[in-house]
Amino acid sequence: MSRPVQYNNHVKFAGIPEGHIGEGYMATNLEKVVSLARSNSIWPLPFATSCCGIEFMATMASHYDLARFGSERVGFSPRQCDLLMVMGTIAKKMGPVLRQVYLQMAEPRWVIAVGACASSGGIFDTYSVLQGIDQVIPVDVYVPGCPPRPEAILDGFMKIQELVNQEGLRRRHSPQYKDLLAGYGIQ
Ligand code: SF4
Repeated sequence: MSRPVQYNNHVKFAGIPEGHIGEGYMATNLEKVVSLARSNSIWPLPFATSCCGIEFMATMASHYDLARFGSERVGFSPRQCDLLMVMGTIAKKMGPVLRQVYLQMAEPRWVIAVGACASSGGIFDTYSVLQGIDQVIPVDVYVPGCPPRPEAILDGFMKIQELVNQEGLRRRHSPQYKDLLAGYGIQ
């Protein structure tokens, strides 16, 4: 476990990993350093189809400023991103597209379902709408709300950072993770 994140004049500092600190040196293990780097340099891929996408725009803008978390670099190429943020109503026809985008992302990758529609279909309990994106891809964090406020999106993002920071480097090779993907028909 790393030490808690510290705040000073609204500037976020990454938590220092546990280890041995002496005069002019610090010793820790590679896993903690990689987790620290990953959790503070997440590159989001926004997959926005409707109104929740507007809340994401507000989250990226200067007032809430997701860049403070090391994520100012929003990517629109799945191969260069490690966090898929799904925002909006996902029609069943879009399911295969969303899944393909997910498959094109390299490991390690994480997914947030932002808002009621992405999480559960929301108010659209109809034949044409996917009743939650976890029917086609695994989801790490669900953000409730219709729409969720930017604070809620930031909260979900910080949950992802916690997950990334605590996830062992070998989790992606574990039988449990492979079983999870196999449940979605992903090798
Ligand atoms: S959860 Fe609400 S605000 Fe978000 S996409 Fe669905 S209907 Fe729109």
